[in-house]
Amino acid sequence: MNLHEYQSKMLLRKNGVLIPEGILATTPEGAVEAAKVIKNSTGYDKWVIKAQVHAGGRGKGGGVKLAKTIDEVKIYAEQIIGMNLVTPQTSAKGKKVRKIYVEQNIFYPGPTEPAEIYFSVLLNRQKGHTILMYSPRGGMDIEKVAEETPELIFTEEIDPIIGLQPFQCRKVAFNLGLSGEAYKNMVKFVKGVYDTYVNSDASLVEINPVFKTSDNKILAADAKLTIDNNALFRHPDILEMRDFDEEDPIEVEATAFDLNYVKLDGNVGCMVNGAGLAMATMDIIKLSGGEPANFLDVGGSANAKRVEEGFRIILKDPNVKAILLNIFGGIVRCDRVAQGVVDAYHNIGDIPVPIIVRLQGTNAEEGKKLIDESGLRVHSAISLQEAADLVTKILN
Ligand code: GDP
Ligand code: MN
Repeated sequence: MNLHEYQSKMLLRKNGVLIPEGILATTPEGAVEAAKVIKNSTGYDKWVIKAQVHAGGRGKGGGVKLAKTIDEVKIYAEQIIGMNLVTPQTSAKGKKVRKIYVEQNIFYPGPTEPAEIYFSVLLNRQKGHTILMYSPRGGMDIEKVAEETPELIFTEEIDPIIGLQPFQCRKVAFNLGLSGEAYKNMVKFVKGVYDTYVNSDASLVEINPVFKTSDNKILAADAKLTIDNNALFRHPDILEMRDFDEEDPIEVEATAFDLNYVKLDGNVGCMVNGAGLAMATMDIIKLSGGEPANFLDVGGSANAKRVEEGFRIILKDPNVKAILLNIFGGIVRCDRVAQGVVDAYHNIGDIPVPIIVRLQGTNAEEGKKLIDESGLRVHSAISLQEAADLVTKILN
């Protein structure tokens, strides 16, 4: 699960990381009010107005603005709230901005200061453990830095048994070229960000940029957290931060049915029992000249109710031109699944697209017979090749 910047910053602050003062707003009036409150509590009279959407690169898309006066706060808030923010990380349609974060503008590093710093803690899946990744050349072009000057990106591996060691925090501060007070504060910062990662069961905490102020404080100017979904059950407070507006509505509905559904851009809906088989099915669809419209694993049971829920979810996507149901009957018998398909078909009423059902395994022949004799717009197949040929035929 991804968190918004303002939510990520709340968690970072709880773990001792220094964060600029900020207040969430949903209207320009709210933004003005927030700016005044921030001025009163901090004494700062400059602000940053930041779109809160689940996508990076907001700065490049016009979703981050520096306001020097209260009037500017209002103008930028009006501009950003309601806009469709297009960034290098969104689709061409962009993401609708519903909330903005009004924040104290901490001093921008001048020409004599180091550039914006990049710092992240993340799971390295190849190694199977956590690493720190950091660079003295952070900011909006970090991808370019990684490509053109990879020697400026540092990594530090964390031993999963002993965790982050103090010498590693010092090494980061040293490699970033800091000294004195800033060095000490960076050591604390690294520990705080790492603690946030561990305590919230994150798979990524990314701070880009980290700012060093002229009085040597180290602050997180931006923050992105990704929480491991499998650990959410033990973080009810974080689960409450879930923002359904940021998720695909069909996927949200699928979670309610407990279905593993991921929406894709193609035209062939697929419903499969088992994630591996689902991947293979998506390959087959591509090889037959189609594009998968989704990934959907209905799990081992594949009973009539599950199949019906699966159909309903798939049919919400208007791009779907055909549905391929690919079931391997191991414990679940194919004739039961076939009966489930027939029942689901009747319950839903008229399904506007052809359905190809490929049943393999226990009682496959009986299952095929049931489908063939149902009189519905359902085509049956036993081999994967037959199913693929049917998909090709239907699409052309
Ligand atoms: P992103 O583009 O979605 O990663 O959004 P960021 O929060 O990183 O903002 C983009 C850029 O805006 C940063 O790289 C900074 O250069 C600038 N920025 C962000 N927050 C502040 C701030 O508090 N003060 C100043 N002066 N600049 C900021
Ligand atoms: Mn950023």
